[in-house]
Amino acid sequence: MDEFHLIQKFFNRVQHHPLLAVGIGDDCAVVASSQEQWLISIDTMVEGVHFPADAQAYAIGTRALAGALSDLAAMGAKAQFFTLALTLPHADAHWLEAFSSGLFAMAAPYNCVLAGGDTTRGPLCISIQVHGTVAPGRALMRSGANAGDRIFVSGPLGDGAAALAMLQRQLNVPAESSRDYLLARFYEPQPQLLLGQELLGVASACIDISDGLVADLTHICKASGLTAVVDVDALPLSDTWSALVNQEQGRLWALTGGDDYQLLFCVPEAKLTQLQNLPYQVAEVGRMQALSDGQATVQCINAGKAWALPQQGYKHFA
Ligand code: ADP
Ligand code: MG
Repeated sequence: MDEFHLIQKFFNRVQHHPLLAVGIGDDCAVVASSQEQWLISIDTMVEGVHFPADAQAYAIGTRALAGALSDLAAMGAKAQFFTLALTLPHADAHWLEAFSSGLFAMAAPYNCVLAGGDTTRGPLCISIQVHGTVAPGRALMRSGANAGDRIFVSGPLGDGAAALAMLQRQLNVPAESSRDYLLARFYEPQPQLLLGQELLGVASACIDISDGLVADLTHICKASGLTAVVDVDALPLSDTWSALVNQEQGRLWALTGGDDYQLLFCVPEAKLTQLQNLPYQVAEVGRMQALSDGQATVQCINAGKAWALPQQGYKHFA
């Protein structure tokens, strides 16, 4: 199977999109649009670094696109297109069938269309660039938070870390339904695109949690010049695993575990009613406040007292 046949068979699905004048097949995709601002982000997944060598191809597809789309969600964008740079050790039709199915299954609910890409031979590596839109000037930034804003997360924290512990046989999860839940959260995290769009005009700042709440909230603190105070008692943990570990471990996973892909966002007091009227179950976990000691950091409290954080999230070159 040569490269052109491979692209044709697995990636060139007939996909119509009102803004796509030219899709796969020419030197570039052509997008026809003038009303919106474009948000562009790229993510790379390398075998052995971001997923184990024996990971299922379908799961690699869903996870790669979900992670990329989550960055669009974090800024309130509507997903429009993605491009795929695929490096493969060999053209294995079974692998490509499963991988492309996972990819398109993740893209479908958001009407995100594959507009082009690149295919090369080498160690397995997947780069996905996502392209989304937002009304001019309205994108949610890390820098928009103000002192007094409440801090919210879009759903349970620590699922990614608990799932990883289960996969590495460090956490025994007896109930099959709980195992299925954790596997789905790990391999098919749902990018919070619809919530992100609802937060336009409601949230003052937003980020997606990919490296752990503390690491990602610290980005908002630095960009906004504020300190964040997080109440560890308010962290939402899933019932599927929280009873299986001690409280300290649960909090550690919720605060520092990666791969949750929940949104973390700040809302000013005046917008709280608007947030409550949205059809989403979000959890309030803390508040932004003026810099204390000049440090744009995350401080944890428990029952009103300072609570020491055990460790930070994952860093590639640490
Ligand atoms: P060029 O050599 O001009 O860069 P390619 O031969 O790499 O073009 O690609 C031909 C067409 O197929 C282009 O439209 C490109 O965007 C698309 N394409 C290549 N690889 C992929 C892929 N993995 N997924 C989707 N489209 C792809
Ligand atoms: Mg070309």
